[in-house]
Amino acid sequence: MAGVVIVGNGMAGATVAATLRTKGYEGPIVLIGDEPHVPYQRPPLSKAQLLQDGDPQLVRPEAFWADKDIELVAGVRVEAIDRAAHEVRLADGRALAYEHLVLATGARNRELPGAESALGLRTVEDSRALRARLGAGRRLVVVGGGFIGLEVAAAAHTLGTDVTVVEALDRVMSRVVSPEMSDFFEGLHAEAGVKILTGRRVESIEEGAVTLDGDQRLEADVVVVGVGVVPNVELAAAAGLDVADGIVVDERLLTSDPAISAVGDCAHYPCAITGRSQRLESIQNATDHARAVATRIAGEGEPYAAVPWFWSDQLGRKLQIAGVAADGAESVLRGDPGDGGFSIFRFADGALVAVESVDAMADHLAARKLLSNGASTSVTPQQVADPSVSLKELAAAVA
Ligand SMILES: Cc1cc2nc3c(=O)[nH]c(=O)nc-3n(C[C@H](O)[C@H](O)[C@H](O)COP(=O)(O)OP(=O)(O)OC[C@H]3O[C@@H](n4cnc5c(N)ncnc54)[C@H](O)[C@@H]3O)c2cc1C
Repeated sequence: MAGVVIVGNGMAGATVAATLRTKGYEGPIVLIGDEPHVPYQRPPLSKAQLLQDGDPQLVRPEAFWADKDIELVAGVRVEAIDRAAHEVRLADGRALAYEHLVLATGARNRELPGAESALGLRTVEDSRALRARLGAGRRLVVVGGGFIGLEVAAAAHTLGTDVTVVEALDRVMSRVVSPEMSDFFEGLHAEAGVKILTGRRVESIEEGAVTLDGDQRLEADVVVVGVGVVPNVELAAAAGLDVADGIVVDERLLTSDPAISAVGDCAHYPCAITGRSQRLESIQNATDHARAVATRIAGEGEPYAAVPWFWSDQLGRKLQIAGVAADGAESVLRGDPGDGGFSIFRFADGALVAVESVDAMADHLAARKLLSNGASTSVTPQQVADPSVSLKELAAAVA
């Protein structure tokens, strides 16, 4: 009874399984994950679920999997892949045969040496443990001013916690947004009363305190470390598949073994939009990879060419990013940051490469169209800066 075996039941793995059925695949599907849960969403863990504890938001209703004849194996780790035998070996001793194997093993939090007393945030258990320690009268230090660090800071602040964020680089979210957008969010947090220390290195983290370079000591009832993730590649590497910063796949998301695909946070893929090989950590990336692979397995695949996009919610503002910009891209403002929604359009070598929008859904949607239909060189900085130019019409004109 071979069929499709999927390792990892996060957003990517779960979406592969669900899409296989939507696309008419009738063979056996087994979805295996080491977390003891039905597939759930991670984004609320640093947002709504920190503010208001509750059950995790599921990727599909619990009954969906049995209804669609998808076998869920939860709380069990896949320990090895036997590529010659087309089998995976599970920690409970079982061996499962596959016709096609999908690796959706995701990523895990990067750890800081000596920070054992600090909390991380990746799973529903992490979110509950953190929430239990937030509230009025508590002091939180967040190490890392990326998306997750800032979302935790925002939610903790809303719960009345005294929050300090320490970021080693000279601005927050620097890996993914423009300097202008970093400034905007630093201002937003500062205005709310969240302290953000940029360009500061953490020397040590003990129970109850974080010591920074220059010996500044920050007292803390709880410390959260959010300094990025590392892809879970060990299973693939042990099976002899190519790995780099992720499991290396081609434009069809196939690994170096044509019977094995990789999707989501763990996959290092050639991006048709940016022209670079990259690994992304987002729901869009997980779901679009998953749909592309399921469609291919079901018999109609095309090379993967989705526009990357991402969102973050902080202190009542919604940030949405389409595309990927490298350091040094030119920033062009549309709208007024002091007055509602606005966007920052990023250009490199005369081409639009990314758009960062705050509470500007129409800009974001137009940007995704502009970036996906090859229009990136037919829009100019002058056009996007001019609020009288309709982005929707521009996108439609070049479709
Ligand atoms: C707190 C938080 C907030 C986020 N907010 C946003 C957001 O606002 N917007 C956005 O776009 N993205 C957000 N993300 C990122 C997004 O959630 C991830 O990019 C996405 O969930 C990745 O899905 P995945 O299925 O590839 O990997 P994962 O979700 O990591 O799932 C992989 C699963 O595979 C399991 N696994 C690994 N190895 C094995 C093995 N050998 N055997 C069995 N199981 C295994 C892992 O334990 C895990 O359960 C957020 C992430 C976090 C943690």
